[in-house]
Amino acid sequence: MIRRKHQAANPTTNGDVRLSVGSPSPSRKWEQLEHPYAGRTAVLATKHEKLPLIGPPLLATIGLQVQTVPVDTDSLGTFTGDIPRQWPPLETAIAKARLGMNVARQALGLASEGSIGPDPTIPFVITDREIVVLVDDDNGIVVWESQHSSDIVAAATKVSTDDDLRPFLSKACFPDHQLIVRPSSGALHPIHKGISSIDQLTAAVTECATVANDSLALVETDLRAHVCPSRRAIIAAASVRLASRIASRCPSCGSPGWGRIDVQLGVPCAWCGTEIARPRAEIDGCPTCEHRETRPVISPEVQADPGECPYCNP
Ligand SMILES: [Zn+2]
Ligand SMILES: [Zn+2]
Repeated sequence: MIRRKHQAANPTTNGDVRLSVGSPSPSRKWEQLEHPYAGRTAVLATKHEKLPLIGPPLLATIGLQVQTVPVDTDSLGTFTGDIPRQWPPLETAIAKARLGMNVARQALGLASEGSIGPDPTIPFVITDREIVVLVDDDNGIVVWESQHSSDIVAAATKVSTDDDLRPFLSKACFPDHQLIVRPSSGALHPIHKGISSIDQLTAAVTECATVANDSLALVETDLRAHVCPSRRAIIAAASVRLASRIASRCPSCGSPGWGRIDVQLGVPCAWCGTEIARPRAEIDGCPTCEHRETRPVISPEVQADPGECPYCNP
């Protein structure tokens, strides 16, 4: 059987569940019927107006209140690359949540992190993968979910001061989606963010083209969540998935966060029996205990088309 790591188990701070001496065992501490986060408050680290996206599904689904803590998460990296990202997206999201938890002195924190770029399987399609995490330092768990979508406006072009920008502005859904302007080459500054009017745009293009080596300005979508509506919709969808995952309890210990952590590949070729790398089952897991369950996604008698087989159709 081919087994592929699809999504790592929800990691904790140190790769292990932290239970201090004397705390109840995992099988006892989650034993309540009401959801353990009902009526509690989590802090959301953002300065990009993500509360209306992340708060409502968590309140509606599990009764968790969400409050914003205005921390500058740009220190962990920006879309424009003026501050490079230091870690992979999940680790960055966890680090953002911890920034807010430290400022607010709270044990429950939330954050989101987006990755926008060419799709790994269809390189000319731009996609956005949004991760939303809940960090629970009382119980030493992290629960996260993601949403992947190509419904993202992410346009870019290089222009001179004489170019007609109207076709680009239409494609870039301007001014609903705001823009960033910077020099196309050479100088790294100025960077004008949050451009929402033609006057601002014209002035920024003139300034940036003047200092660029090639006399061009780079105009691109401002992907920050508060000025990028198409991205906001994907963060909202990821938040709904996170709320649903937190609502889902481990059948063994009752911990929140039960759900898919891995996928099993391997469907036998109808002619020769060679296993093709297609999903046959998903593995659900718990962020607190070691309990795992395999859930078939196809019935056992399903066989793969020999056309997909590397031996029958080399
Ligand atoms: Zn075959
Ligand atoms: Zn469990």
